Amino acid sequence: MDHLTTQELESEQQIYSAEIISIGTELLLGQTVNTNARDLACELSELGISNYYQAVVGDNPVRMEAVIKQGLGRSDLVITTGGLGPTEDDITMEVCAKIAGTELVFNPEAEKWIRDRIVSHHYVLTSNNWKQAMLPKAAKILFNAVGTAPGALFQFDYAGKSRFLAVLPGPPLEMNTMFERELKPWLRTKTSRSLQHIYIRTTGLGESRLTSMISDIIHEQSTVSIAPYAEDGEVVLRLSVMASSDQTSEELKEIFQPVLNQIRNRLGEYIYSVENKTLPQIVVEHLSAQNAKVSFAESCTAGLLSAELASAPGASNVFSGSIIVYANELKKSLLGVSAEILQSDGAVSEECAIAMAKGIRSLLQTDYAVSVTGIAGPEGGTAVKPVGTVWIGLSECSGTFARHFILRGGRNRIRRIAALNALDLLRRQISAE
Ligand code: AMP
Ligand code: MG
Repeated sequence: MDHLTTQELESEQQIYSAEIISIGTELLLGQTVNTNARDLACELSELGISNYYQAVVGDNPVRMEAVIKQGLGRSDLVITTGGLGPTEDDITMEVCAKIAGTELVFNPEAEKWIRDRIVSHHYVLTSNNWKQAMLPKAAKILFNAVGTAPGALFQFDYAGKSRFLAVLPGPPLEMNTMFERELKPWLRTKTSRSLQHIYIRTTGLGESRLTSMISDIIHEQSTVSIAPYAEDGEVVLRLSVMASSDQTSEELKEIFQPVLNQIRNRLGEYIYSVENKTLPQIVVEHLSAQNAKVSFAESCTAGLLSAELASAPGASNVFSGSIIVYANELKKSLLGVSAEILQSDGAVSEECAIAMAKGIRSLLQTDYAVSVTGIAGPEGGTAVKPVGTVWIGLSECSGTFARHFILRGGRNRIRRIAALNALDLLRRQISAE
């Protein structure tokens, strides 16, 4: 179908603004997470195309038409996703053709593509599959390499202005593939800018505390814009510069550098990466540089810490292994935590975290060892040790210590954040050496 007879779009017109309209009643009902809008927003921002509006609308022709027209009234390009399936409620192509002032006609090449694909994938042909071969007469047809529904790119005058309307399928794999192959190369020719980013990744500070520490830098921002956002257990500062296509990477570096230095001086040890690397990657790099090995004793995280570290390439060079010691019996028999500690201080205590870290380090003979023990809830909390109480121990040749955390959230958030804090404690310890 890559040879589909389509209308080529001839226009010198640049694209400065675009908006995203996600179509599907399932999105409005909260049954499907709108990942398409997120993915397209990232792409547009990288391309230097401003995205000021996003909308979600159900499979209703009147509301769909209204929201698409609203977009066309204020943006150079409107991108829709969804509603290209073969069923009755999939009406996006029809609605868009109507707005563009064209009609749907049977496209024999699309029909052949759909037929071949159904046969080669052993799908069951249903009578309504041919609906997807009904395509706009005046539009560029966009090829779907991973599904049956083609997309379309219309160009027409709307309210006296030349506009583009791109119609993409709903399934994320199909949407992303079509965007990447069919729209992105074309969009690059339509913009002479691109947004360049540097990501400063931090741990150990909440978003409000971090922004208050650099509020003057944020207020003074001009060429480099600074946007903080929180991720689980981390705060990321995204520095962005709108670059023109003829700017070299050296020139861009010079623009970023002064702001980057200012923030670095202010936040110091809280920053773990300015290269958009993950915490596990940074820990693996630090350990590799020291040729050091690490092991874990995990109670409440039950393997999450190990899984996090193993997510970084090269983990096998530095990670010896870990033991999940959920039951107190195992803390005793495998790690040598004394009955006395378990009785008088309890399994969630500084003493126990220290004994666990020492125990695993001597058992697995590693340079560093980290232990995690905590109360993930929802039961088991007390006034003295509420749900979210976590002790993280760290043992190395020069000594062993443990740190206390009180984490908020549900059971699994507490477990995840405990694993991240354990990695961060390890990072700080290694980079201090
Ligand atoms: P449709 O083309 O509307 O029939 O969409 C087919 C399937 O794609 C839906 O059932 C969803 O699972 C998925 N989908 C549609 N729109 C989106 C979206 N905006 N983000 C993520 N998935 C989507
Ligand atoms: Mg749908």
